[in-house]
Amino acid sequence: MRILIVEDDASLADGIAQILRAKGYTVEATDSGDDALDTAARERFELLLLDIGLPGMDGYEVLRRLRLAEHQIPVLVMTARGAVSERVHGLDLGADDYLAKPFAMDELSARVRALIRRASSQVAPRITHGPLTIDKVARRAYIGGEPLELTAREWAVLLTLLAKVEKIVSKESIINAVADWRDDLTPNAIEVYVSRLRAKLEPAGIKIRTVRGFGYMLEEFKNAA
Ligand code: CA
Repeated sequence: MRILIVEDDASLADGIAQILRAKGYTVEATDSGDDALDTAARERFELLLLDIGLPGMDGYEVLRRLRLAEHQIPVLVMTARGAVSERVHGLDLGADDYLAKPFAMDELSARVRALIRRASSQVAPRITHGPLTIDKVARRAYIGGEPLELTAREWAVLLTLLAKVEKIVSKESIINAVADWRDDLTPNAIEVYVSRLRAKLEPAGIKIRTVRGFGYMLEEFKNAA
């Protein structure tokens, strides 16, 4: 398990690295956002611990560029900026969790463990739902083995629904999962994506139910009798 730390406070970086190494992780550290992007593009890490206040490119920009490049590495943001809006900004940019400085090392370890566990439980790269197969690594979908063309938004909505088969998913949580830093998505836009998905999936017997005033539910797939 490899962790990349991006932190310009050398003593904090050392302290974190020591704690994590003692827990059995392999740790690399850098104080530069540019460097972090290069390293993350070249090598595989299970987690990025990202300071926001960095000289030069700040942590938000590092995160924005990572996600723009569709890099899926889990990111735990560390910020001294306590304002709620700052944390929300990090989460909106695609951070998986955040820690406000100063934090206790025990809390850091617990968050790191939880994020890595969550990510490794999601590695199953193929998801199947009736005749639908999703290859998350290749970002391709198939119905009965035939490629299914999906836009990036349709793909994101479908993954959100697939994560909760037979459970109601609110429009808000779909928006949160789908929207990126560039835009404000409205519930109406989500309706459009869902209706396009339906047009593509219903011929294969895959049903997305509307739960009025709340959201949607991907129904458990049942073979036609
Ligand atoms: Ca800093």
